[in-house]
Amino acid sequence: MASHLASIFGTEQDRVNCSFYLKIGACRHGDRCSRKHIKPQFSQTILLPNVYNNPAHTPEGAKMGQAELQRNFDAFYEDFWVELCKYGNLVELHVCDNVGDHLMGNVYARYEWEAEAGRATNELNDRWYAMRPLHCELSPVSDFKEACCRQNELGTCTREGFCNFMHLCHPTKSLVTSLQSSQRMSRRKAAAAGLEDKDAGGHMGWTPGAAKARQGGGRRD
Ligand SMILES: [Zn+2]
Ligand SMILES: [Zn+2]
Repeated sequence: MASHLASIFGTEQDRVNCSFYLKIGACRHGDRCSRKHIKPQFSQTILLPNVYNNPAHTPEGAKMGQAELQRNFDAFYEDFWVELCKYGNLVELHVCDNVGDHLMGNVYARYEWEAEAGRATNELNDRWYAMRPLHCELSPVSDFKEACCRQNELGTCTREGFCNFMHLCHPTKSLVTSLQSSQRMSRRKAAAAGLEDKDAGGHMGWTPGAAKARQGGGRRD
């Protein structure tokens, strides 16, 4: 029996745990879901729900070309990457292109260490982006391949933005490569100097004032 329960844990056959919450970190029923959403105590992944306001899904966006939409997203992606790097070694950063309320504009970040994700969660809950207070939580998502819609990757998802699996916005590849290498460089420099990267911020949507939250929050990795 126990092995049966273990084998169905988090699958569609699991009558207790919500498979959508476990795999995608969000389910369309939210707190009213009949199955359990067990929030992790520790995780390498954080979720910032409803942050990217994708112009592609707004009336203004209808007038924008593909290149302009891509520039808009790349700027957002870079802005988040640079800021989230301050809490630890950022391994993955994904932004949802879905339009359903529970996935719209969701930002997921996976760190190398749980302690980094924990610190990011605590500190980001005190921060603002694009004039709105951020909400941040630890997320059970560990494998983004499982969380993403396979049909969408093949261009055949008929549910489009309303799909309950992740449809991702894709940053320009060269941008990701350069963000990854600059993270490596600055971590190396910080390690050599025995210091944290003291970039005071000043990016697009971030409200300054994180310095207070950062005081005393030394490196924990
Ligand atoms: Zn659920
Ligand atoms: Zn889909």
